[in-house]
Amino acid sequence: MNRRTFLNAIGSTVLLPAFIRNAFASASFRRRRPSDIEWPSPAEWQQLNTAVDRNLLPVSSPLSSTKTNPAGSATRRLFENLKNPYYIGDEPGLTQTLGWVDAWATQPSAYAVAARHAHDIAHAVNFARDHGLRLVVKGGGHSYQGTSNALDSLLIWTRHMNEITTHAAFVPAGCENTVQPQPAVTLGAGVIWRQAYEAVTTNGGKYVQGGGCLTVGVPGLIQSGGFGSFSKHYGLAAASLLEAEVVTADGQVRIANACANSDLFWALKGGGGGSFGVVSKVTLRLHELPEFFGAASLTIKARSDADCRRLIREFVTFYHEHLFNDHWGEQVSLTPDNSLVVNMVSHGVTTEQARNVWQPFLDRVASGGFVLQGRPIIASVPARRFWDLQWWNEHWPELVFPNPNGSWLTGLVDGALRRALRQPLFEIDRRPWAEPNRTWFAGDGGQVGWFIWGFDSLWLPASLLEGDGRQRLADALFESSRHSRVELHFNKGLAGGTSDAIARARDTAMNPAVLSAFALAIASASERPAYPGISGHEPSLDAGRQAAQRIYRCMRELRAVAGETGSYVSESNYFEPRWQQAYWGSNHARLADIKRKYDPDGLFVVHNGVGSEQWSPDGFTKL
Ligand SMILES: Cc1cc2nc3c(=O)[nH]c(=O)nc-3n(C[C@H](O)[C@H](O)[C@H](O)COP(=O)(O)OP(=O)(O)OC[C@H]3O[C@@H](n4cnc5c(N)ncnc54)[C@H](O)[C@@H]3O)c2cc1C
Repeated sequence: MNRRTFLNAIGSTVLLPAFIRNAFASASFRRRRPSDIEWPSPAEWQQLNTAVDRNLLPVSSPLSSTKTNPAGSATRRLFENLKNPYYIGDEPGLTQTLGWVDAWATQPSAYAVAARHAHDIAHAVNFARDHGLRLVVKGGGHSYQGTSNALDSLLIWTRHMNEITTHAAFVPAGCENTVQPQPAVTLGAGVIWRQAYEAVTTNGGKYVQGGGCLTVGVPGLIQSGGFGSFSKHYGLAAASLLEAEVVTADGQVRIANACANSDLFWALKGGGGGSFGVVSKVTLRLHELPEFFGAASLTIKARSDADCRRLIREFVTFYHEHLFNDHWGEQVSLTPDNSLVVNMVSHGVTTEQARNVWQPFLDRVASGGFVLQGRPIIASVPARRFWDLQWWNEHWPELVFPNPNGSWLTGLVDGALRRALRQPLFEIDRRPWAEPNRTWFAGDGGQVGWFIWGFDSLWLPASLLEGDGRQRLADALFESSRHSRVELHFNKGLAGGTSDAIARARDTAMNPAVLSAFALAIASASERPAYPGISGHEPSLDAGRQAAQRIYRCMRELRAVAGETGSYVSESNYFEPRWQQAYWGSNHARLADIKRKYDPDGLFVVHNGVGSEQWSPDGFTKL
């Protein structure tokens, strides 16, 4: 007797939760697929559709339809569109990362609830739970690990929940006697960071800690812990969370903050997306803007391997003496062709001050026989205009170099540099109907529609910057860069940051290794866009596997000096063997308890998420 017949036979739906609960508890429980007789009937889907105000959609992937005519113009158009994160974001059947060699490839859900309110989410949660369905949640769709897609699932798609409200004096519910009112912003679950920065910084003159990439979704980043370019100053994005509205596996819409459901609140601050419930909105603390944000961009090439080793030592010493503070974030890359590429950003530093900071290093480059490629760009802009496309369009490049009276930088604005600067900083969604502010940083373009070959990350402890640690670190960086490009993301380690940033991060679920790390080292390789089964666009499996091997060897050199310090949950290796320890360290045990409390039957399951050990890799079968 199948479940529906059984229920009809007893003439009651009252027993349903108990029935399903027992089924979940059984080791052989398998979630339903459309081919199963227990899959909900059309009438039951119709009931859900009515409950969610007709926002239930059948989902298909634009990729599937191109398989039959891979050389056709529709396929060509699709693969152009797959370079546009807004196109991808508008499609419930796509994700920003299209897959990972030997790991996963994006697959459409069977149905999506395009949620508008927490109650739509609650209906979807109840429906998935009561019918034994695989449930997935997608916001911005940027997961590297493929945690926001699953074939044959019911998708909760938050794209349209993009309400933004700012508060002059917000107090979390129930905290009236314990928490001071403070400026805050409430963001719906579908808001991406570009929308948040526009509202809070461009229009409001304040700062909200979000991600560097403009199209990442807000709750996805918050639940990762979340780093932005200026995290050494303002801290983790999760540490600014004041309150979340979240739908838990029992279908309850709960408020989580320091005074209500405080354990769930803590878990949402870095415990990983898609594991504890569905966040319908978040309220984040606002911060003050400095006068300036800025950038330092330069490339230096060493003439030989021996010179490259020396160059890296010079840079590590320079970093320790001049940049290891809350003013400097983002990245430096070391490449197998002996280049050191600086793409850093500054907080609260004028152009003149930034130039003074970098001058000693540029002097060493000149006297050390290294080659400065092109001209360095070191400049600051009014912080409020950092994400303001209109301002960049109107003032570029004059205000990039704000001192018109013969300053060092103004002197560099010759024809070549002007041409270089005309490389777009922002890319824009150019579809005819798209709003003109749909932008993304050109520097993030390589990750739009990408198919990952390999990826790994490791926190580098600040102790490596002390004494002879610097030389060991520099040598390990040189050795690692023989195998693969390696990037140091200084804003993704909090050591050297403000005491406030570090103190608030202690009260999150993120691996405490982040507190004493000065950077997150990342090695990755990919191609874009590609998808299995579409002739002419197939991922390059051999090249991908070889790249993954190089990344393994690259990171092994760093592990030899840093140890197994841990890895950032949202930017890490799909095949990470000790992911519980790597992502959460000593916080994992508490997260596992909270998972058992709020989701005892494992409705929410994502690859390498808390509690996922109990499920098959596809999340369908209880182990
Ligand atoms: C191009 C690019 C740039 C990035 N830059 C940064 C960066 O600067 N800093 C940084 O820290 N990280 C960065 N990341 C990583 C990114 O923050 C994480 O992948 C994040 O989880 C993505 O959130 P999303 O909503 O866009 O993705 P999704 O794939 O939609 O979601 C990610 C996870 O969160 C879950 N989730 C999403 N919404 C909800 C919700 N409302 N309730 C419950 N669970 C939910 C999903 O189920 C999934 O498991 C970047 C990733 C990419 C691809």
